[in-house]
Amino acid sequence: MPVRVRIAPSPTGDPHVGTAYVALFNRTWARRNGGQFLLRIEDTDRARSNAESERQIFESLKWLGLTYDEGPDVGGPVGPYRQSERVDIYPKHAKELVEKGAAYYCTCTAERLEAVRKAQMAAKLSPRYDGHCRNLPTSELKKQIDAGAPWVIRLNVPSEGECRFKDVVRGEVVFAWDQIDDQILIKSDGWPTYHLANVVDDHLMGITHVIRAEEWISSTPKHIKLYEVFGWEPPTWCHVPLLRNKDKTKISKRKNPTSLIWYRDQGYLPEALVNFLALMGFSMPGGVEIFTPAEMEKEFSIDKINAGGPVFDMQKLDWMNGQYIRKLSVEDLAKRLEAYGAAGKDPALVRRIVPLVHDRLRVLSDWNDLTSFFFTDDIRHDPANFASKKQTPAEVSALLAAAREALASGDWTHAAMEARLRDLANAKNVKAGDLFMPVRVAVTGRTATPPLTETMEVLGRDRCLARMDAARKALGA
Ligand code: GLU
Repeated sequence: MPVRVRIAPSPTGDPHVGTAYVALFNRTWARRNGGQFLLRIEDTDRARSNAESERQIFESLKWLGLTYDEGPDVGGPVGPYRQSERVDIYPKHAKELVEKGAAYYCTCTAERLEAVRKAQMAAKLSPRYDGHCRNLPTSELKKQIDAGAPWVIRLNVPSEGECRFKDVVRGEVVFAWDQIDDQILIKSDGWPTYHLANVVDDHLMGITHVIRAEEWISSTPKHIKLYEVFGWEPPTWCHVPLLRNKDKTKISKRKNPTSLIWYRDQGYLPEALVNFLALMGFSMPGGVEIFTPAEMEKEFSIDKINAGGPVFDMQKLDWMNGQYIRKLSVEDLAKRLEAYGAAGKDPALVRRIVPLVHDRLRVLSDWNDLTSFFFTDDIRHDPANFASKKQTPAEVSALLAAAREALASGDWTHAAMEARLRDLANAKNVKAGDLFMPVRVAVTGRTATPPLTETMEVLGRDRCLARMDAARKALGA
């Protein structure tokens, strides 16, 4: 049977890093087996699903290169791939279960359910449906429904025994049936719940492996029960450990950015983020850390997914992103910066600056701060930046005047400027750094910059001299 896998995100809120993480493992498994990777949109929560969130899922998966073979926006043979467009499919399946005695109508009112819940809480029991309608005669329920009582359909879950199943990552998993609720399958508005729609669609779409986040493992007994009562072959279960905050809790936006849009907006490279996510759940032979999805495909297998809860370590991601930035050619990095919108208007200037900051960029958004003084002449000279333990402001100003004179003529190459400034420092009997620092602050307004004379070479003589003059004025010259 060909491998068919899917992700099934709900379009509620920002596209989540966890979605990309699970997508990567699904996609890699499909690729490795010559199978298909599907995107299905699970939008049966009508109050929370929205089109913008769905659009962002498409867009961010595309940005990451996590393309899918079938999905709402690319089509495919078993569509539609959006559950809201499949709502006609689910009720007949639920009714089939009612006929088989595997599910039942329930007409309990919200008030009754609330009273049951309160009584269970008071008795220190975990709240669950008490099975009231399970044992009512069908004729009685029918009478109520015909009289206009709102109804739902619930799954008839066994009240004793255990559900055992094999999970690729966790081995044998056991749940006691009495811990599992009689899950609602069809809601009072006629729409399916996640559980019914998910199982029906996985079956109709020919899904062979359910590779999803660990948080769904407690739903799996309900799904297994559904496969069983429908008489369908269940898929292979593979629950991937959740990404975690540093304190080991499930990744949450209070403690870690979780939106893929945020990572894109910060200027993380998509290939770096994908590589980082791969490392969260998978180790390459020999501990290789930098690898492409194609390289991963050659080594990956779902039974090699690490079972430990991986900590989403931003420092590691920053390191990884830096590695990927360093690997780009000047031209490629300039293009990325331009596409990102960071680069400024002059492409030739951008290409001259890139080599100066190539080693310093952590993310593309660092560019603006690192290079702004190339793009504006509005340089603020804060006298505090010139402060020196060794020289008075007047002495600093005199040094700047001498540097200006040394730079006013002669070759405008970084090597020639470097030599002239060093000679000047010798002649003035100051350390090179004590001369370079005020010149740096004068021409950039900063105490930390890319290499000084290379920076000056790109800035040009006129701008540098004018800035040195302005600096001396700021120092009260
Ligand atoms: N709709 C679920 C989600 O939002 C799908 C879980 C599953 O993959 O079964 O993640």
